[in-house]
Amino acid sequence: MKSVTVLGSTGSVGQSTLDVLSRHPDRFRVHALTACRDEQGMLSQCRRHRPAVVVMVDTEAAARLREALRSEGLEVPVLEGGDALQAVAEAPETDVVMAAIVGAAGLLPTLAAVRAGKRVLVANKEPLVMCGDLFMAAVREHGAELLPIDSEHNAIFQCLPGGYRTGDTARGVRSVMLTASGGPFRTWDVNAIAGATPEQACKHPNWSMGRKISVDSASMMNKGLELIEACHLFSLEPERVRVVIHPESIVHSMVEYEDGSVIAQLGQPDMRTPIASGLAWPERIEAGVESVDLVSQGALHFQDPDPERFPALRLARQAAEDGGGMPIVLNAANEIAVADFLAGRCRFGQIVERVAAALEAFAGAGCEGLEAVLALDADVRRWMQDPEGLAR
Ligand code: NAD
Ligand code: MG
Repeated sequence: MKSVTVLGSTGSVGQSTLDVLSRHPDRFRVHALTACRDEQGMLSQCRRHRPAVVVMVDTEAAARLREALRSEGLEVPVLEGGDALQAVAEAPETDVVMAAIVGAAGLLPTLAAVRAGKRVLVANKEPLVMCGDLFMAAVREHGAELLPIDSEHNAIFQCLPGGYRTGDTARGVRSVMLTASGGPFRTWDVNAIAGATPEQACKHPNWSMGRKISVDSASMMNKGLELIEACHLFSLEPERVRVVIHPESIVHSMVEYEDGSVIAQLGQPDMRTPIASGLAWPERIEAGVESVDLVSQGALHFQDPDPERFPALRLARQAAEDGGGMPIVLNAANEIAVADFLAGRCRFGQIVERVAAALEAFAGAGCEGLEAVLALDADVRRWMQDPEGLAR
């Protein structure tokens, strides 16, 4: 029986994780669930999954949740604040930690789980983008088991030789191909994309996801972040990671070997597949996902991404090649610009323009160690709020 903590349980990946866990009460039990401020979502998860403890980052939401639990006679302790996330991530009572918080906010709790030597399922890609080297070094040092849950990285992991551990150099690999659906704007006119609304950007053709990653998928910054994520997880140089548009989202990524073999992982676009794979690895368990019927599916298409429509990809590849603090700048600037876009404070087209401006302003910024990572991340966020006032 494995005990599981789900960081970000009320989100899209968090809910899919609980769906898979609830299919296997004989194998898994829930230790801790965490959320930022959705106390209603957390209340219904408490009713259903009876966690040993929950965390609400927001203190007012925590108070409301305690009150609601008390009135229903549910005895679930509610911790509050960001530090409590780390406490439940490293708790001796938990074996497996699902990292499904969105953005840089997941960095410290995920790292805490790694440092405690857990099996860590990483959906939350932003921390790997920010400081993948530091992360992978901590994985090795503390004997953690890092399993990629992002569907493309999970696919690559499944296509690598048996016994492969993340962070190692896989022998005989020529390249990996990250597939991308192309998002809702794949065929849109460049000018129309620049003026797209949040509703249009969040309407993904194949996947149902949280709003931040949906916007990233529309700009293809998501694929850029995933390129950097892949370099760290699989110890690859950026030039060995190719991005291929595949509108059907059935092939989740591929590994090409020196002998010319290409191994692909296929499946429905449903996060429960990579989640179940990570939970049970190297075993296989039922995930509630339908079979892929290739006959009724019909043709699968592959094409190069259009650099005019999706300039974010070029920025991310450049940040990956430059290294140092550039991936941190890319990620922090993007998080702020996406939040502004979703709040109606900037146009879709400005997201990538603002990220490009931040990369220019912070060009050459280095970054060694966790303190420096957090400091640069905070600097970029401040600069994004007031680029003129904080000229560098
Ligand atoms: P989401 O917005 O649906 O959920 C985010 C979760 O994080 C929620 O539980 C929320 O309460 C919590 N959270 C938000 N801000 C927080 C903060 N400051 N501190 C603590 N907790 C906070 O997001 P999602 O779509 O589930 O994505 C989660 C992560 O997984 C992201 O990094 C995303 O890139 C990655 N991912 C998601 C999918 C997908 O299908 N949704 C696929 C691949 C990777
Ligand atoms: Mg992905």
